[in-house]
Amino acid sequence: MSYPCTDLDSFMAGLRKRNPGQKEFHDAVQEVAADVLPFIQGKEKYGTECLLERLTEPDRIITWRVSWQDDEGNVRADRAWRVQFSNAIGPYKGGLRFHPSVNQSILKFLGFEQIFKNSLTGLPMGGAKGGSNFDPKGKSDHEVMRFCQSMMTELHRYIGPDKDVPAGDIGVGAREIGYLFGQYKRLEGKFTGAITGKGIAYGGSAGRTEATGYGVVYFMKEMLATKEDSLEGKTAVVSGSGNVALYCLEKLIQLGAKPVTASDSDGFIHDPDGIDEDKLEWLKDLKVNRRGRIREYAEEFGCDFHEDEKPWGIDCDVAFPCATQNEIDEDAAKTLIKNDLIALAEGANMPCTLEAQQALRGEVLYAPGKASNAGGVAVSGLEQAQNSQRVSWSKEEVEERLQEIMREIHDKCREYGDSDGDGEIDYVKGANIGGFVKVADALLQQGVV
Ligand code: NDP
Repeated sequence: MSYPCTDLDSFMAGLRKRNPGQKEFHDAVQEVAADVLPFIQGKEKYGTECLLERLTEPDRIITWRVSWQDDEGNVRADRAWRVQFSNAIGPYKGGLRFHPSVNQSILKFLGFEQIFKNSLTGLPMGGAKGGSNFDPKGKSDHEVMRFCQSMMTELHRYIGPDKDVPAGDIGVGAREIGYLFGQYKRLEGKFTGAITGKGIAYGGSAGRTEATGYGVVYFMKEMLATKEDSLEGKTAVVSGSGNVALYCLEKLIQLGAKPVTASDSDGFIHDPDGIDEDKLEWLKDLKVNRRGRIREYAEEFGCDFHEDEKPWGIDCDVAFPCATQNEIDEDAAKTLIKNDLIALAEGANMPCTLEAQQALRGEVLYAPGKASNAGGVAVSGLEQAQNSQRVSWSKEEVEERLQEIMREIHDKCREYGDSDGDGEIDYVKGANIGGFVKVADALLQQGVV
């Protein structure tokens, strides 16, 4: 292979050879490289810097065993990782995921995406991701606490407010963040903003819980506005019923749309009358407080539950995948298009496979997660700023800033994704190049490190 590599096939062949078996990571890089390689080509300043080769190699991956004791006294051992991908534009930043499917490939794909997402927010945050194959589902609070304390006993060496600032993700919500932060504070002997997503009582930001879900809907609003359209009266299909999905549903209802689905790993509910404010409050209580299953919604409100199915066959105007990666394949994408979908904004990270993306791009307004779900990390960045200044902004102030950031990300996508100025924005290209340029400039200015 010649350096720097300018041909996508050769670049990807090299990457696959160096990272065997890491399909999720390959797919995430391929999506970015397909836009960035042609952009770099012929630009003198990027010359022989091999920027994409450097950016696809994490700064470091830390991996360790987490031993903990369950309520029956059995000693259990899980695996944990922190992938510190790039701190070119700021301290490492990215969530922790607890789910049995977690492995190095998934964390590398998420960490790589995070570099570009964090850059798009305009805030000084590098890219990282971490987590464990520990499954909090069905565990008691005490078991979760013992696991979190054991995990942090190793992790605390590698993080800190100027070094690496983890947050939540799948399986890591308010409870887990509290336990992780408590142990960090105990080990370090100081109270610093080394984790975001904290409770309001101990340094969390107003509006952080809502930020990702609200941000996705704000981004959708911006996309529809380019077609002089709005969310008012639109039927929306949403997947998931976790943090992102719940607040995506909330903002959709506030802006006059009619969401008709929600899901979990058991299946989805279809409520043709729409999930309204009261039903959403019930659903939040089910999922956040009672840790129940989505089928209980169908029993409570007398609608259909589709076991082991995904909601993409339901007629809708707008779609919001908010559960996990690869939940929309090519067939599902084609079904959505056939049913006259207008727009799709990703709440989850890489919920559309590469083939689904190809089907959607150009057919509907399509926002990739690194742009549309950046609201969460953006408000995490605002939490870091408040912690350093020892101030707390109001919920209204944070929401105002969140809306502004989502507008600016949309503007960046327009700047780099509509280069011929015909008004048709390629949001994938816009997000990839818009996220890349700032990181690339930082790398160029910092020399060969
Ligand atoms: P939660 O753990 O709060 O919720 C995840 C939801 O997705 C649950 O309903 C869960 O169902 C469902 N789910 C998880 N795995 C699967 C699976 N393999 N198949 C079907 N359903 C599944 O996570 P979040 O809401 O925080 O995260 C959702 C997505 O959004 C992830 O891709 C995450 O990376 C992304 N994201 C999150 C951000 C945040 O601020 N939280 C920021 C940016 C992106 P069940 O309970 O049955 O497992």
